[in-house]
Amino acid sequence: MEADFDIGVIGGGPAGSTMASYLARAGLSVALFESENFPREHVGESLVTATTPVLLEIGAMPAIEAADFPKKYGAAWTSAETRPIDHLGFANLTHDFRAAEIMFKERDQPGVDRDFTYHVDRGKFDLILLKHAESLGAKVFQGVRVNRVDFSEDLPVMKVRLGGTPADVRVRMVVDASGRRTMLGSQLRVKVPDPVFNQYAIHTWFDDFDRASVATDPSKTDYIFIHFLPLVDTWVWQIPITDTITSVGVVTQKKRFAAAKDDLETFFWDSVASRPELFQALKRSKQLRPFKSEGDYSYAMRQICGDRFLLIGDAARFVDPIFSSGVSVAMNSARIASADIIAAAAAGDFSKERFASYESTLRRGVRNWYEFISIYYRLNILFTAFVQDPRYRLDVLKMLQGDVYTDAEPKALSEMREIVRAVEQDPEHLWHPYLGELSAPSAAPIF
Ligand SMILES: Cc1cc2nc3c(=O)[nH]c(=O)nc-3n(C[C@H](O)[C@H](O)[C@H](O)COP(=O)(O)OP(=O)(O)OC[C@H]3O[C@@H](n4cnc5c(N)ncnc54)[C@H](O)[C@@H]3O)c2cc1C
Repeated sequence: MEADFDIGVIGGGPAGSTMASYLARAGLSVALFESENFPREHVGESLVTATTPVLLEIGAMPAIEAADFPKKYGAAWTSAETRPIDHLGFANLTHDFRAAEIMFKERDQPGVDRDFTYHVDRGKFDLILLKHAESLGAKVFQGVRVNRVDFSEDLPVMKVRLGGTPADVRVRMVVDASGRRTMLGSQLRVKVPDPVFNQYAIHTWFDDFDRASVATDPSKTDYIFIHFLPLVDTWVWQIPITDTITSVGVVTQKKRFAAAKDDLETFFWDSVASRPELFQALKRSKQLRPFKSEGDYSYAMRQICGDRFLLIGDAARFVDPIFSSGVSVAMNSARIASADIIAAAAAGDFSKERFASYESTLRRGVRNWYEFISIYYRLNILFTAFVQDPRYRLDVLKMLQGDVYTDAEPKALSEMREIVRAVEQDPEHLWHPYLGELSAPSAAPIF
């Protein structure tokens, strides 16, 4: 039987819209199904510069620029305590170790023509990308959920409801971009919980929060700030959304939240109270939205592509948002996978082997991210040390820019892993007391 469309995309977040844009530009017919009606709220508001080449390539950058999102020039980390550092021969570490910061402009990044990216209201950002895909020719169905994909026939059949009536949409290939709902991964039973991370986040927006209150440099309040709390494996994000609105979220281990037996609000305020200056500044501002939580969000997939299907973005893998990587991985996974899909369509062959290049590139990128995040949680003092050390700074910055798909393994990562091992094995080590509870590097991720 004939296909209704070449490609069916499940989900209209950054991964799905980017995929639909690349494919429509290449002349393929694309149907994108998004279960919600946009704009809709979404967590994940701070971008990294690896999104820039994708936005330029699909032609969405002018619309993003016109939206006037706050520009993000860098990232900063603050901590409640001063910790010892003069132990492992790190260079030039005479200054305050409670904080670190990076600026994107310190390293030239291939395909990136500016020294900033954006913090975005995801309601607006995702709508712009969806409309952009539509303007390139993708057929977008909003408010239409894909319930299942039937792979028992020659062509995949997407099971949806159109205008309240069940409908079958036949496509030559399906791309799952359903985010943490993991539509296809769940249906195919290839989803596995991450062996290490089981994080939990509580977040909201505040108006008139004084961003300089905890910033180490008040001229840089347009950066994303990550504030370490003096609580194990717990941190806070501070992301500018407009001139006056700031997104603030507490990330912790889920078991800590469960053990506290609190409601969201109490847990948020109790956690933030461990940094009194932050607590007071937040109390002086106005909360704009109810608290929202995000849980159980780390998982891998045993399989990310097969005959006539492929998973991208959060639908393929999610670890932890500490380095603002999610939207960048979503858009870059769409970029990388779209090249394989376009070649598969030209060859008239959508078998699994056609997507091998996507699979290996994405696995390499995500492995680097995973390792980096794991080391950070295990010994975050090491992360701040490496950021400040000129021998490693650019290597770390490269990862923070989201430039993770080309190298087998950045040098800084292997060095960090060695140091973590040394600290783990030596109870007398000055940094031993600072080891976090999540011991990841040895627990090899599936993906
Ligand atoms: C606490 C937290 C903080 C984060 N902070 C950041 C950050 O600062 N920066 C960053 O870059 N990332 C961050 N992220 C990650 C970021 O949110 C995601 O990586 C990003 O949204 C992934 O994009 P996506 O397109 O893959 O999925 P999504 O953006 O989730 O889009 C998926 C879409 O699919 C739709 N959908 C789902 N199921 C179906 C179905 N069956 N049929 C049709 N449609 C469906 C959904 O409605 C949704 O619109 C954070 C994540 C968490 C949990």
